Amino acid sequence: MQFIWFRQDLRIHDHAALWHATQAGPCIALVVISPEQWALHNDAAVKIDFYLRQLQALKTQLKTLNIPLVIRHIPFWKDIPQGVFQLTQQLNINCIHANIELGVNELKRDAQLQKFLEKDNKSLELYHDRTLFPVGSIRNKSHQPYQVFSAFKKNCYERLSVSLPQCYPQIEVQADLQLDSLEDESVCTFAELYPDHPSIKLQDRWPVSEEYALTLLDDFINDKVIHYEKERDFPHLDSTSQLSPYLNLGMISIRQCIQALFRRQHGHFHIEHLGQQTWLDELLWREFYQHILFDFPQVSKHQPFKVDTQKIQWRDAPKDLTAWQQGQTGIPIVDAGMRQLLATGWMHNRVRMITAMFLTKNLLIDWRLGEQWFMQHLIDGDLAANNGGWQWCASTGTDSVPYFRIFNPISQSQKFDTNGDYIRQWVPELAHLDAKAIHEPYAKNLNLALNYPQPIADLKQTRIRAIEAFKSI
Ligand SMILES: Cc1cc2nc3c(=O)[nH]c(=O)nc-3n(C[C@H](O)[C@H](O)[C@H](O)COP(=O)(O)OP(=O)(O)OC[C@H]3O[C@@H](n4cnc5c(N)ncnc54)[C@H](O)[C@@H]3O)c2cc1C
Repeated sequence: MQFIWFRQDLRIHDHAALWHATQAGPCIALVVISPEQWALHNDAAVKIDFYLRQLQALKTQLKTLNIPLVIRHIPFWKDIPQGVFQLTQQLNINCIHANIELGVNELKRDAQLQKFLEKDNKSLELYHDRTLFPVGSIRNKSHQPYQVFSAFKKNCYERLSVSLPQCYPQIEVQADLQLDSLEDESVCTFAELYPDHPSIKLQDRWPVSEEYALTLLDDFINDKVIHYEKERDFPHLDSTSQLSPYLNLGMISIRQCIQALFRRQHGHFHIEHLGQQTWLDELLWREFYQHILFDFPQVSKHQPFKVDTQKIQWRDAPKDLTAWQQGQTGIPIVDAGMRQLLATGWMHNRVRMITAMFLTKNLLIDWRLGEQWFMQHLIDGDLAANNGGWQWCASTGTDSVPYFRIFNPISQSQKFDTNGDYIRQWVPELAHLDAKAIHEPYAKNLNLALNYPQPIADLKQTRIRAIEAFKSI
């Protein structure tokens, strides 16, 4: 009997481990839920809710394939190897199939389980599924991992031009295993775990199901990708795919995205317009950070990629941090972004960059505090992408922005939210201001009677302070 262990890949289509498991013999599916461990990893409530709702959907899908699902609650990962091993003994399982998870703790957990299994002549088969190319396989001429995105991307382009990664075939329905006695802890709901939590209100905003994720992908490819290069930086437009939560929790695969992107080219790597190329590059940024996480595991241990930036004297400024977290900094575009995050569990990429740069440069607050806050609130919170994004903005990461290139949030706001529509949506106190005043309400008249804070930082002075802090290390 085979075990197919679903982790961050709750889908039945184009799933490497599921396909291999079903080829090897009759299967039982396993999901381990660990809310206590998720809390230690700062997973956002909205993300946990999203996961548990999709787990219900997966259970229904697996029934159509006659694959029974066993759900086990094991609070902490340290206990998973023993717990899963015991299950293999109870259910007479001889092989577990799963997709690789790239974090240090995840890899350790799997290595321990492998040891238990080997002693009992059983095995754990791991597959590359989260990335387009297996981690550890993209190497420069000296067989070293790339540290610069453009070179990494070039290598990926070369490989894609040989052939695009193919999706796995449809899974066939297996014979009924007649395992009526199979003990099945029911899927716990978010409401049971977190009664009255406000994230429940976001369920309509973020529907689950593979079908929904595929529709989102199709709509994006059919209508939006053509304009993506021109429109993706404008946060008031609905011009990006919003697929990040679905990709992150594995409701859709990266291969499905690539295949859809080249559907009109009949699956050939032939770039026809800038929108297509720009979206591909964003998928490759995702790929890059996943590979970095694997090749440089220190980044998942709260270490900066550039070791000397460890010496930066970050400010201990709890009041400023709270103002940033709550969207009360007095810088409208920053506040709009931080409030969008609190209200929806998601933030537009341009605004993620602006808010992260403001925290780490203008407020000179440690990027790790921002990284943690994002993780605690993002529905798409992903260790690799979040860490990569934060270290890029803080100039501590691989191929990150040079420390002296500090975004001015007001100019960014004027450029990317010219009419102030995004600010109006999220900062209603400023909704009546015109397209000029809304970016910097106190610039001309400090006596404006607004129910909105004065800026907590002088942008010119804090810019100089940040450059000095970086120069001094
Ligand atoms: C400080 C900071 C933190 C971030 N944290 C996360 C995070 O926790 N999880 C996350 O998925 N993304 C994160 N990003 C990257 C990016 O902001 C989001 O992936 C993007 O906004 C998601 O929207 P979308 O699905 O509409 O993206 P699209 O523009 O449609 O892009 C398609 C997909 O490409 C990937 N992608 C796009 N841009 C990036 C990028 N810069 N880095 C890595 N992958 C990218 C995502 O999977 C995304 O769904 C972060 C960026 C910054 C600057």
